[in-house]
Amino acid sequence: MKAAVLEGVGKLVVKEVPTPQPKGDEVLVKVACCGVCGTDVKLVHGDYTANYPVIIGHEFSGSIAAVGPEVSGLTVGDRVVCDPNESCGKCEWCRAGQAVSCGSLAGYGVFCDGAFAEHVLIREASAYKIEDELSDETASFVEPVACAVHGADTAAYRPGEAAVIVGAGPMGQLHIQLAAASPIRKLIVVEPNADRAEIARKVGADVVIDPTATDAVQAVKEETGGVGAEVVVDVVGVPKVLESSLRMVKNWGRVVIFGLQPQGAKVAMEPFDLLTRHVNVLTAWVNPYTTRRALHCLTSGKVKVDYMITNRFPIAGAPKAIKLMEERPAGFLKALIVPGK
Ligand SMILES: [Zn+2]
Ligand SMILES: [Zn+2]
Repeated sequence: MKAAVLEGVGKLVVKEVPTPQPKGDEVLVKVACCGVCGTDVKLVHGDYTANYPVIIGHEFSGSIAAVGPEVSGLTVGDRVVCDPNESCGKCEWCRAGQAVSCGSLAGYGVFCDGAFAEHVLIREASAYKIEDELSDETASFVEPVACAVHGADTAAYRPGEAAVIVGAGPMGQLHIQLAAASPIRKLIVVEPNADRAEIARKVGADVVIDPTATDAVQAVKEETGGVGAEVVVDVVGVPKVLESSLRMVKNWGRVVIFGLQPQGAKVAMEPFDLLTRHVNVLTAWVNPYTTRRALHCLTSGKVKVDYMITNRFPIAGAPKAIKLMEERPAGFLKALIVPGK
């Protein structure tokens, strides 16, 4: 089968590899499509640990092509999505309901082969059957939506609050929709890209601040009667941006670190300021136990994703898709790898 294999830092190679065969409780998924994620770019750059060589791609939908002998709940032809962060179920963290800390996370598309390929092998426990009315493309967003749902749970928006979402890329768009659907009084988005700002307004932002044109911290204060927002969700993953997010929050407010910073990156913060202002710094990492709710968000149409898809590539176009992510030309939001294309 054809696959995009990350052989080392900066070495994403499209080539023929053997089609895997399911053993035990594994299922072989024929990939319908797979989203290209910021994490894939970080993997290619070496900003996030991978197990080379590895087929990247973790945001996928498809149908069952073959099942192992111990599979009981899925049959050939079933349409599925995958929670790529499957855990062992046996370790300290798994037994405490903290499975994303599991030391044996499958990490399809990161630690083991993912879905920039015609087929991907996953365990039955990681697969979720999907409804007929959910399209392959919409379904492929289940993992990012599950991450955003965890972020929204962590932000715990309360009635009457002002919230800031920092960053209106594809993940930011999901955060904006979830925040806009909660009973907050004002949703402020920080985003320098004019196209993304425009779309952010359409999906629920009350105000969009361009941090390249104005001091974003000052602008958030002006929008909140001089005190800052009760909750700030930083979706960006850039140290300087997080530093300003920590200063936009109101006394006693919450800052959620959501955006993935490069491993080893450091952020300058002032503990005196955070302590005396009683700021809570929270984190929301990946998608613990939120895949089912994310599927409900997509199937019900409450979270919309189709408007984000701006580019589709065959597997051979994977390096081009990564380049597009790096360059972010005007109008670009989300690329999908579509093996049948
Ligand atoms: Zn992702
Ligand atoms: Zn575990």
